Amino acid sequence: MTIAYELRCRECGRSYGIQPLSICEECFSPLEVVFDLEYARTRFTREAISQGPLNMWRYRALLPVSDSYEPLTPAGLTPLVKAPRLGSHIGATDLYIKNDAVCMPTLSFKDRVVAVALANAQAFGFDTVGCSSTGNLANAVAAQAARLGLKTFILVPADLEPAKILNTQVYGATLVRVEGNYDHVNRLCSQIADRYNWGFVNVNLRPYYAEGSKTVGYEIAEQLGWRLPDNLVCPMAGGSLITKIRKAFSELIALGLVEDKPVRFFGAQATGCSPISTAVKNGTDVIEPQRPNTIARSLAIGNPADGPYASRAIRASGGWAEDVSDVEIVSAIQELAETEGIFTETAGGVTTAVTARLYAHGRIQPGELTVACITGNGLKTTDCLLGAYEQEQAIRPRLSDFENFVEERNAVKQVLSLMGESYAR
Ligand SMILES: *Cc1c(COP(=O)(O)O)cnc(C)c1O
Ligand SMILES: [Zn+2]
Repeated sequence: MTIAYELRCRECGRSYGIQPLSICEECFSPLEVVFDLEYARTRFTREAISQGPLNMWRYRALLPVSDSYEPLTPAGLTPLVKAPRLGSHIGATDLYIKNDAVCMPTLSFKDRVVAVALANAQAFGFDTVGCSSTGNLANAVAAQAARLGLKTFILVPADLEPAKILNTQVYGATLVRVEGNYDHVNRLCSQIADRYNWGFVNVNLRPYYAEGSKTVGYEIAEQLGWRLPDNLVCPMAGGSLITKIRKAFSELIALGLVEDKPVRFFGAQATGCSPISTAVKNGTDVIEPQRPNTIARSLAIGNPADGPYASRAIRASGGWAEDVSDVEIVSAIQELAETEGIFTETAGGVTTAVTARLYAHGRIQPGELTVACITGNGLKTTDCLLGAYEQEQAIRPRLSDFENFVEERNAVKQVLSLMGESYAR
């Protein structure tokens, strides 16, 4: 039998076969799934992919699942859309949005990683699964585990957004709120995974989980007509997604599915939790952990597991990383919604604001083909817009009331413009 893939230590290269393990027993470095690309060459072709299902499983020949695995979750294959109106605001003429705000089933890119992680949880025989989460992962694990009939324990920081808590509990998962930040929660999950024989998607199943992120990269290339962009802008929490999109592009080049060309990777963080962008700006792969303090909770990981690899990937690609304030995040959410009709969560505000800054600072040239990754949905973080919009008084169902309403609005607009202010939204 040909082995399509195996676990290998990222640093010392020791091989671990296929088992639920994420850290090298010899050098304590992270393990990674490595594919036999020669074996994949005949299976991962443009033609085979085009005949696959209309979801992320069309790329299954480079995902760590057995040939007999029958996927139940049709996640992925989200729209890649041109963004000309946002582009004209920020000085971009060839800008695209990869819109995982509408990834199924739980409206974030985490549905992709969970689909792969739970396939492996089942293959390893775990009857209970769980995760530590900043929110979106909790939603994705709870929903998909429900569909597979697995018992679920989900641990989150106590101060998570209410919508993300509800979106976990509704699936019947056991939700454990932990006093502390994500890094405290994650440490506790490692201890639980050691004590009980449970499958934690981002602890002992993490190498498999991470491979699911590659499908964002495969899709971008296929949706561009089997081409790679010049630049990719990606939000970073643990730093896994950005490194895996880069891995996906490298695999596509190695297999000859796209022309070999350099792609610059740009990382986006919130200033209130910016350990990776800080490292990139300082020209190092050494991550100084931070204590998160930002509204971008889904990115609030102060000690990112893949931080060193993300920083290395960004710098090796000739890219850059930026971080933006909470105020900039909120106005970028509004800007993306008003220009392109896409309502993203705080993480997408981070990506949009950072993208704008990269053009403003000349790090990205106007005509370069650039893809910005929007990874989550705005309906999950509506609290950040609380108070942003006035509730006008209701009118009676009469045409005259409507006309008065419009007149009053115009009057307000005029006064504000006379005062030299821009009209409030
Ligand atoms: C988890 C998450 C990210 C970042 O993922 P990492 O792989 O941990 O860097 C980005 N956006 C959203 C919305 C997320 O939930
Ligand atoms: Zn090792």
